[in-house]
Amino acid sequence: MPGKVEGPAIALSQIDLSLGRGAARVHVLRGISLDVARGEAVGLVGPSGSGKSTLLMVMAGLERPESGRIAVEGTDLGALDEDALARFRGRRIGIVFQAFHLVPTMTALENVALPLELADKPGAHERAKAELEAVGLGHRLHHYPAQLSGGEQQRVAIARAIAPDPAILVADEPTGNLDEATGRQIVDLLFALKRDRGATLVLVTHDPGLARLCDRTVRLRSGRVDEAVAA
Ligand code: ADP
Ligand code: MG
Repeated sequence: MPGKVEGPAIALSQIDLSLGRGAARVHVLRGISLDVARGEAVGLVGPSGSGKSTLLMVMAGLERPESGRIAVEGTDLGALDEDALARFRGRRIGIVFQAFHLVPTMTALENVALPLELADKPGAHERAKAELEAVGLGHRLHHYPAQLSGGEQQRVAIARAIAPDPAILVADEPTGNLDEATGRQIVDLLFALKRDRGATLVLVTHDPGLARLCDRTVRLRSGRVDEAVAA
């Protein structure tokens, strides 16, 4: 990969996607075009079922659109095969899923170290420990996900996404399960990634306070960008 890349962090052009089969098939994303600039923080808002989580998966290269084009840091994701896409994701994109997706047979420390090991980063365990301490979980390093509360699992998932120092971080309701004080701590960490390392953030949120911290909000409605609503 060349060091210098052109264009926005994320460029979506006329993205269409349907999910499900037969009668359950839903046209989830309907012609979405959207650019996210490098180093920008975008809050993705909108009612439940409007397509926010699905759009995040498309941005992270985890769902392929049926039509339209997605480029991340100038790389056309549609041109990558599954292996190349997985490598690209591992190098450039951090993802916090709504359901966390921690590996149940691994401790908190092992979960956070995993992407670092996959990326051949040195000192994976030390770095994982530091990231877990930063999210206030220094006392839960050797707990398994099932032994952690929802909020603690969420913080492990955030530490795991942040640890590899991604250029782009997408997060699905990152403060959804957290009390106010912990939520603020997590928001500080996310925005430190933007401020100190120039990372691009796309955050799905129902929290107006978090949306206000973003440079811009994008509202989805029935799978479309709602142009009528000003940020
Ligand atoms: P949001 O995150 O804004 O709540 P989602 O992106 O999760 O919305 O879902 C948007 C719509 O797509 C919803 O109506 C949902 O039921 C539907 N949907 C999501 N995933 C699937 C799927 N795998 N099969 C069928 N419908 C789906
Ligand atoms: Mg959702």
